[in-house]
Amino acid sequence: MTYRADPARYDAMEYRRSGRSGLKLPAISLGLWQNFGGNRDYPSAFEILGYAFDQGITHFDLANNYGPPPGSSEELFGQVLARDFHPYRDEMIVSTKAGYLMWPGPYGEFGSRKYVLASLDQSLKRMGLDYVDIFYSHRFDPETPLEETMGALAHAVHSGKALYVGISSYPEAETRRAHAILKDMGVPLTIHQPSYSMLNRWIEDDKTIDACGELGVGIIAFSPLAQGVLSGKYNQGKKEGTRADNPKGSLRQSHIEPNVLDAVQKLGPIAENRGQSMVQLALAWALRRKEMTSALIGVRTLDQLKDNLGTLKNLAFSDEELTAIDEATKG
Ligand code: NDP
Repeated sequence: MTYRADPARYDAMEYRRSGRSGLKLPAISLGLWQNFGGNRDYPSAFEILGYAFDQGITHFDLANNYGPPPGSSEELFGQVLARDFHPYRDEMIVSTKAGYLMWPGPYGEFGSRKYVLASLDQSLKRMGLDYVDIFYSHRFDPETPLEETMGALAHAVHSGKALYVGISSYPEAETRRAHAILKDMGVPLTIHQPSYSMLNRWIEDDKTIDACGELGVGIIAFSPLAQGVLSGKYNQGKKEGTRADNPKGSLRQSHIEPNVLDAVQKLGPIAENRGQSMVQLALAWALRRKEMTSALIGVRTLDQLKDNLGTLKNLAFSDEELTAIDEATKG
């Protein structure tokens, strides 16, 4: 059956400007990191992706290495674009990134011009696209001159292969330098993608969040649920089938130690008083500051996506609530 997007898709979503750019993103964006690779068949992937777009999620975030295996998320998303999403390409913001290991040898990772631009070409091919909307440097490379990495991003824009550029997980000082170098090249730094959640506040601690606000760079927070820990499910001893169930996975035992779970436990009553699930509390919190453009979620099931979208019904916090959250989760 041919997919037709829901005519009401823009009714409930909030859109926020990325810094001082012209680009608006949905308050909740969907990433394809671990749940949309070779481990997922087309119908179950599209059930989630199509629902997301029907609910106003216009932004889909990818990277060269998303899968598993690396590259397979872009391939799957390419199939979705070709089969179902293609009439809506101009209503979508598709991002990809280069920085982590993709192929052997000295040109398969980090920030050289050689790697970054070859990787972008590979990503475009896998997705069947002429351009991506946002192209990121996925991580700061301490060995490559930042001018070279930013030059590669600027080239992507000048050659029409990316509309906007971003950086991911760059600390404050490198963020400021990246912004300045790109500005000299006539390309604005549109967005920063750091990890950020109640349990992970490094962008507040090192003032990256303030730098972005000052420079007019938007912020999209990845892992705002701390990979699912903030849903509270690990407090209930649930592990089977979850991200923590994979001993080689990205969610390690150290992320669910008793002290972490104790903190999460204290968030339950706060969520309940707000009439929210714990997931909704965590996402609303990640979006509470004016610098935040979007919360970038990952979901394994459609029910998770539905739960997460409920966040939009209550984004406001009282000072008392914020203090209680700080007391529960800080240090
Ligand atoms: P989240 O913190 O949103 O974690 C997602 C996981 O949390 C899901 O896979 C699921 O895990 C669990 N979850 C989600 N919703 C619910 C719910 N309602 N109830 C219970 N559990 C839930 O984000 P991710 O860590 O997945 O990252 C999101 C996106 O951010 C990625 O897809 C990617 O696009 C981007 N990212 C970027 C990085 C970078 O370096 N720039 C690094 C990492 C991510 P489970 O499988 O256990 O059910």
